[in-house]
Amino acid sequence: MSDEISLRDSMPRPTLRVATQGAPEAPRYPVIDAHNHLGTMTWGSLGAISGDWPKRPVSELIEVMDEAGVQAIVDLDGGWGDRLRSEIARYQAPYPDRFLVFAGVDAANFGSDPGFGETEAHRLRASAAAGARGLKIWKTLGLELRDRRGHLIGVDDERLDPLWMTAGALGLPVLIHIADPVAFFQPLDDHNERYEQLVRHPDWHFFPTRTSAHPAAPGFPSFLELIEQFANLLTRHPQTTFIGAHVGCYAEDLAWVGDMLDACPNFYVDISARINEIGRAPYTAREFFIRYQNRILFGTDAAPRVDVYRLYYRFLETRDEYFSYSLEESPGAGRWQIYGLGLPDDVIKKVYAENARRVLGIARTPAESTGAL
Ligand SMILES: [Zn+2]
Repeated sequence: MSDEISLRDSMPRPTLRVATQGAPEAPRYPVIDAHNHLGTMTWGSLGAISGDWPKRPVSELIEVMDEAGVQAIVDLDGGWGDRLRSEIARYQAPYPDRFLVFAGVDAANFGSDPGFGETEAHRLRASAAAGARGLKIWKTLGLELRDRRGHLIGVDDERLDPLWMTAGALGLPVLIHIADPVAFFQPLDDHNERYEQLVRHPDWHFFPTRTSAHPAAPGFPSFLELIEQFANLLTRHPQTTFIGAHVGCYAEDLAWVGDMLDACPNFYVDISARINEIGRAPYTAREFFIRYQNRILFGTDAAPRVDVYRLYYRFLETRDEYFSYSLEESPGAGRWQIYGLGLPDDVIKKVYAENARRVLGIARTPAESTGAL
């Protein structure tokens, strides 16, 4: 067939006709975006790309938040030291109701400092004194970070216990991302459901899996190895509050996440960057939200844009069927569509902000305290 097109160029548009509500202009209740990055992104016409932030006035960011009904954003890009101080000075100090800055660890130090756990515990105390409201842990833990001897540092490595215990003692939640979508750990073959995404981002492909369990073995840990380490971490530190990024780091398996939520009262999850995953299983996802309505935090992990927020509102609030999880013509993760969850009001209210307020220690707004909202 001479006019055959390649699958790469195929952008099918559904011909399905069903009643649709579309994206709500405003959320039904005020929103806290508990997973965002204001420190590593810059603003282009297409949204955020990595680069030098800040480029755009904070007042513009606040206009976007106001228009989108977002009361507050958690900025996970605080880092430590001078960088943390300037991030706090830019966002949190002038707008304490609108921004919460999380601190980070100096992961580059793990490869040379034999006492990196103690060092980071000490650093976290300094970050807390500077005003940090939580700690962010990047997915490099377990996946890439190695100690002085070249051994991979597991997510549940005991040398980091001082850090987790200090976070617990300080009352600072730890927002942690481990691993990545399951498909990133599978062979890049004709069965990989994120094939197009991995072709575009070969650096996101954590394969081949190492063949030996020895920490110095080459290759990547398997997804299951990482998720088991994560479970160990959560159960071993009941005094520390952990927020598992991206639906508990395992959006593909809500039963696993539910089991962890049942087993670990110190565990919470954010939903950032995974409406594409959970939106394709709307019955299971809806039950999950209702059952764990006190443990789920709203978050986007995307440069603040009104239309991005509205897409999340559509997913959580409406019963719209078979719509794109992305604003791009070619959705990044794969060629599937999602379904709205049509969550009950009281669940939406908790997921949007109440759970985040409790976990992050944010006061209610005057209108909410008086029951006006
Ligand atoms: Zn993130």
